Amino acid sequence: MILVLNKSLSESDIADIASQIERLGLGAQIVGGQTNPLVFVSGNAQTHPSHIFSRIAGVEKVLKLGPACPRVDAKDIRPITIGQGVTIGGGAKPIVIAGPCSVESQEMLLETAQAVRAAGAVMLRGGAYKPRTSPYDFRGLGKLALEYMAQARSQTGLPVVSEVMSIEQLEIASEYVDMLQIGARNMYNYELLSAVGKSKLPVLLKRAMSATVSDLLQAAEYIMLGGNEKVILCERGIRTFETYTRNTLDLSCVAALKSLTNLPVIVDPSHATGRRDLIRSMSRAAIAAGADGLIIEVHPQPVRAMSDAAQAITPAELTKIVADTRKIADLFSDDTDKLETPVLSLASTVS
Ligand code: PEP
Ligand code: MN
Repeated sequence: MILVLNKSLSESDIADIASQIERLGLGAQIVGGQTNPLVFVSGNAQTHPSHIFSRIAGVEKVLKLGPACPRVDAKDIRPITIGQGVTIGGGAKPIVIAGPCSVESQEMLLETAQAVRAAGAVMLRGGAYKPRTSPYDFRGLGKLALEYMAQARSQTGLPVVSEVMSIEQLEIASEYVDMLQIGARNMYNYELLSAVGKSKLPVLLKRAMSATVSDLLQAAEYIMLGGNEKVILCERGIRTFETYTRNTLDLSCVAALKSLTNLPVIVDPSHATGRRDLIRSMSRAAIAAGADGLIIEVHPQPVRAMSDAAQAITPAELTKIVADTRKIADLFSDDTDKLETPVLSLASTVS
């Protein structure tokens, strides 16, 4: 960090600023700038709130040089294990997570779980608490759905993931699921991010519909700051002027995220497109772009789904997507350039 000081400060004012910095446990090196004097701050300055520096009398500008997200930026993150034996990221083969948008009944969930497992999915998704744009739409079976998810896991062996929208739901769901999902609408819910940061469970963090790459990484930083390093990022489409698709799948963000962080990155082509006819091609593209996996909505009778029917695919279609995923991953499996340590860093901020 560099502090740009006011030109008119005396030598003793500048020395006083340096000693204020040192009292924070940081190093301070004074440099006579051409115009303004500068103080180079060394040590863990990023972890102090910016106002601590900007409010020091005589400081005109604070230039942050380190990574905006030191935890997300760390180079030593290992692949993440979910439940018993599902590994994602860190160069592991891409995985497919599949299941219904909403858990509709015990029978329907079990049928779907068995079908997605037979299709090659390694995890089951299923909404218990559903964020719906209209409050009159089906909002999920809640705790009952979580019980059905746990039953489906014991019958199929598939670890399960479900969304939580509040701290209360987080506490309930933690008893049942192998991975917590923070949905697009809650990516900016910093209380919830901090709460899942204290959980031992892996977290699937979905990009909000208007979030920049930087917003997404800073949301991940909130979780990691709480001590939970098991964060999986998910691109699920962003809002643009296009209306033919539900959202616009931003695949460049997948490649960017892979450069910026070692956290696993998965793609949700279901919410990204909102159209079942586009799921297979976008799944192929996502794996080719370097995604560590896919999360796809599947229903035994897609047109009868109680939520997101237009984007639900059949288990038969999922079988093809899993086969595509393996083929494309194999095509690039000896690509040693891929998944190297991050080369980029989030832009520094100035305050
Ligand atoms: C979902 O995965 O069911 C969901 C609601 O997704 P998103 O938060 O991406 O809209
Ligand atoms: Mn859905």
